[in-house]
This record gives sequence, structure tokens and C-alpha cells, in this order.
Amino acid sequence: MKIELKKLNALQHAVLPFSEVIDLKDEKMYGRNPFQSPVYVEGEVSNESGVLRLKGSIRTVYSTECARCLKPLDIPLEAEADMILSDDPEAEEEDDLFVLTGDSVDPADVLVPALILQVQMTYLCKEDCKGLCPHCGADRNVTECDCESRQIDPRFAALRALLDNDKGN
Ligand SMILES: [Zn+2]
Ligand SMILES: [Zn+2]
Repeated sequence: MKIELKKLNALQHAVLPFSEVIDLKDEKMYGRNPFQSPVYVEGEVSNESGVLRLKGSIRTVYSTECARCLKPLDIPLEAEADMILSDDPEAEEEDDLFVLTGDSVDPADVLVPALILQVQMTYLCKEDCKGLCPHCGADRNVTECDCESRQIDPRFAALRALLDNDKGN
């Protein structure tokens, strides 16, 4: 949704609210398309004594999987932004300054980057997730496989047998 700024520019102390649902299904992150849920964007653009300002929030559910056990995870994600809109093409984009490219602003252009900043590279289903067994692929949160005990190096097994014998004497 584009918000035309010409009208707003002409009115000191005016406020234009916005609210929309956007689609980020094609947005790729870490090799997947994690934004399969609707993305809610709302806020307002105001003219405060000649300074244009966009304040808003964005929220959605980020679809990913546990980095250890690969269980699907839905992470609620939200971000806020409060930016001054500058029409000076020479201005440098900063944390709180958004450089306009024309007579309008699309709130999504301002808020989506703030949302993306909230994304962590990895998520866990729980802090102490035991992950998958590297040998048989079993989910170690659910089942105890016996791979660990079977993977003991035979040389150590022989050593252990010797030690056990020693104890016997
Ligand atoms: Zn997990
Ligand atoms: Zn296993």
C-alpha cells in the first residue's frame, strides 16, 4: 500500500493511519520461505511541523524448525519502527531515517526490514533439546537408541575388558 505524501506535506500536523495485511510468502531467508503466515502492518504517517514521520508495528508468525531435532516451529515475531522520512536523495539511510524515492511511501518498505532484523539464525524447540541421533536419526527427546553404547571403539572395549579383569584379581 502506497501512502501519497504530497497531500500530507501540504498539511502541518496531519496524521494518516495505515493498516494492512501483506504477503511475504516469496521472501527467502536461510534457504527457505519462512513467512507463510499473514503479516500485519499498522501505524501512521504524520507531518510534524514539516517533518514526515512513520511510526508503526509489524507482526507475523515465522515458520522454521528446531536446529537440533528439526521439529517444525512457529515463532511469533514482531517489530516496531519510528522513522523520519527524508526526501533528500543525498541523505544516508540510518537507523531512524528512511530515504524516500518518490512522492509516496509504502509502510512495508520501512517495517519489513525491522521485522527481518528480529529473526535469529537458529531456533530450538526447547533450550535442552537433545537433537537427533547422528547414527540412526532417532529423536533423542522421544526415544533412547542404543547407538552410543554400540559405537564404542573395539580397542577401548578390549581395554575395558582388561581393566575389568584386573579388578577381579
Ligand atoms: Zn528440538
Ligand atoms: Zn541412534
